[in-house]
Amino acid sequence: HSAAPETDFEQAAHRTLRDVFGYEQFRGRQLEIIQSLVEGRNALVLMPTGGGKSLCYQIPALLRPGLAVVVSPLIALMRDQVEALQHNGVRAACLNSSLDPVMQRDIEQSALEGELDLLYVAPERLLTESMLGLLERAQIGLFAIDEAHCVSQWGHDFRPEYMKLDVLRQRFPQVPRIALTATADQRTREEIGRQLLPDGGETYIASFDRPNIHYRVGLKGNARQQLLAFIQERHAGHSGIVYCMSRKRTESTAEYLSSQGVPAVAYHAGLDNETRQHHQERFLHEDGLVVVATVAFGMGIDKPDVRFVAHLDLPKSIEAYYQETGRAGRDGEPAEAWMVYGLQDVYQVRQMLAESSAGELQQKAERERLEALLSFCEATGCRRQVLLQYFGEPHEGHCGNCDNCLQPPKTWDATDPARKALSCVYRTGQRFGAAHVTYVLMGKTNDRLSRLGHDQLSTFGIGTDLSKQAWHSILRQLLAHGHLQSDPEGHGGLQLAPRCRELLRGEASLELREDILPSSSKRKAAGS
Ligand code: ADP
Ligand code: ZN
Repeated sequence: HSAAPETDFEQAAHRTLRDVFGYEQFRGRQLEIIQSLVEGRNALVLMPTGGGKSLCYQIPALLRPGLAVVVSPLIALMRDQVEALQHNGVRAACLNSSLDPVMQRDIEQSALEGELDLLYVAPERLLTESMLGLLERAQIGLFAIDEAHCVSQWGHDFRPEYMKLDVLRQRFPQVPRIALTATADQRTREEIGRQLLPDGGETYIASFDRPNIHYRVGLKGNARQQLLAFIQERHAGHSGIVYCMSRKRTESTAEYLSSQGVPAVAYHAGLDNETRQHHQERFLHEDGLVVVATVAFGMGIDKPDVRFVAHLDLPKSIEAYYQETGRAGRDGEPAEAWMVYGLQDVYQVRQMLAESSAGELQQKAERERLEALLSFCEATGCRRQVLLQYFGEPHEGHCGNCDNCLQPPKTWDATDPARKALSCVYRTGQRFGAAHVTYVLMGKTNDRLSRLGHDQLSTFGIGTDLSKQAWHSILRQLLAHGHLQSDPEGHGGLQLAPRCRELLRGEASLELREDILPSSSKRKAAGS
């Protein structure tokens, strides 16, 4: 606390914070952001989910004369916000397609007569001529553009209407704008600034670091057993979320955990409303329940004492991983983000890319997002550093709270085996998956292999010195690092990718990480 006397602005802001929202202190740079807007300047705010973005425009909405218009693409969240505001005695409303015409006219009338402080609108609605005309007749205090990353074609939630929001600057040049987002890499951030705030404004970036979350990524063996061991050894009796890709898998995993004495329920969009609601309620109110869910779970879940978030399948992107793992440890107590992944996951990801029907620019963006995710998985240095770097935040590494910091992975010079693997992929015609290629490398044969004559190839048996696991590890990392790709037809065949040329020509060397085998398969190997 500084002893400096508060300015009038600060007094008013604190009074509003206390009297309307019931909080004592501003968090991070909230006060500065509020001041920018109150004084009529634009602002770009990057803050992780749960950081407190809403107050950054809600308080200026109350301190500035006129109506604050909030653009948001998420109707459900809009409704929640409006309810919470009304509960605090704030005159707030939202306009969306689910309202009947009479209600809509009522709200529009109140906006015109200055009887509203905040109006939430979906972007497509805001952009209609009738809405813009209405706003021109009302007194507008500020525009808040939530989920501002939707303006970016590089982002994962691109919404074309966001690109038209420049109309706000053109038609309301005197009204300050604030753009807010929880997910934006460097490029997306620049695009937000260029598109939504070309007339300038201050950028406020809160740290995305979650120091109490411990990050761990392991090699996938028997994923369920690994998960069970993880929960039993480190999180017995704790609440946690397990993310899976498919609905079926959430159900079978929840059943498995329950059968092993870990209370667990499934959650996915295919369950009927009642069951879904019931499982969510149980998770919120019971101690030590595990929810096994698809990505459908999590929006608006505010449970402070989630002790772990586990991924049995790769998330969609680093942003998704960050959002999903960010649901752990909201109370600031130690929590864990745990993930297992393997060759099959890399395959799947590569295949999804190959099959993507998105436009060229979007495909490129998709590819880069997946590359980033794979390099996070294969990272040999501090995971927190990789994660934060993705959000443009420098971190010196050595966080001491991730697997790689606590147990630095060994790397080895895999140049020679990598070349062997690549030439074997080439010789077998770039049509076969890891299992077949490994067979050829190891000089093993089966009916199909000998029918194809692959036991006659020059690469047959050139890799007897390494185990099957080692070859799978090499192939996985070659795929992850982009030396290999999966065939565009989606048959699971491995193909050479442009990046492998230097390696094959002997112009580059390759360090790979030595995999640590999952403990369950070690136990099995030991015969238990
Ligand atoms: P975001 O939109 O960034 O995800 P919210 O605006 O929903 O985050 O805020 C997250 C939670 O933190 C909310 O419950 C909010 O009331 C609370 N919060 C925000 N600012 C403060 C503050 N200064 N003091 C205490 N709680 C706050
Ligand atoms: Zn670290």
